[in-house]
Amino acid sequence: MKKLLLCALLTLALLFGCQAFASPVTQLSDGTKPDFPESSKLLKVYFINTHGASDAILLTYDGQSMLIDCGDTNYGLMFVKPLLDNLGIDHVDYAFNTHPHDDHINGFLSLLDHVSIGRFYTAFPFSYSAEQTSVMKAAMAHGVEIVNVDNESDISFGELRIWLYQDAKFLTPVAAKANSASMIIHITLGNSTVMITGDAEKPVFSDMYAEKGDAIQADIIKIPHHGYNTPSYEVFKVIGSKFAVITNYYNERLADSSQFLRNNACQILYTGRGTVEAVTDGTRWTIGQLTDR
Ligand SMILES: [Zn+2]
Repeated sequence: MKKLLLCALLTLALLFGCQAFASPVTQLSDGTKPDFPESSKLLKVYFINTHGASDAILLTYDGQSMLIDCGDTNYGLMFVKPLLDNLGIDHVDYAFNTHPHDDHINGFLSLLDHVSIGRFYTAFPFSYSAEQTSVMKAAMAHGVEIVNVDNESDISFGELRIWLYQDAKFLTPVAAKANSASMIIHITLGNSTVMITGDAEKPVFSDMYAEKGDAIQADIIKIPHHGYNTPSYEVFKVIGSKFAVITNYYNERLADSSQFLRNNACQILYTGRGTVEAVTDGTRWTIGQLTDR
């Protein structure tokens, strides 16, 4: 497995040409360099570098794949398809859109033309926004099964346990509150947890905490809205993440949230510096990043 992992990283390095794996391998649990046994089934989470503020996050586990958001127009082809090719994935089992804003959903249009998708999860009505309508139409034209999800939906697969949270009070017929209506996706394998948060804003996390309590804990959190929003201090203490992924380049507008995370002893990885790869066997994580030379 180590060889395979190394192979994958090397091919990723080749893929990105001017980039190389910088191997800041880090652990959340026992402090030793992880060497997962060959028998381990690994959850791999790729926070893809889309060269700016947009989300495209790929999960692979036990031969299945889930793509959460797909970046902006053409990003599916530009940034997601090369990674899929490199991993030998020619079929995405599950696509998920956290909310139908262009920087999260439009990339599916270009991906659909080149990669087959089994099922598309959406938490929004068909006609919620122009972006939503055009992607839903394209998905149907490609024969993709569209599945509407809500907080009660169980989209777990394999040993992955997944729960969803959408703050219903922000799901209005007009798309103005789409960020706060983002579906939050909480994924668990064994003792390892990761939370994908779309562009949700502070009140959403407070409401989620009020409803779910300690279940919101996550080893790794994708910081909402490309780093421009964070949960409150009180809620973040409960989430307790040691690693935060910001889907953006670092810029001055991120100074406050970056400081907030550091004050909470949370290590930050910016996808603008390279695709972040987090791997777990359910007991510990390794996190690495493709960085520019
Ligand atoms: Zn966004």
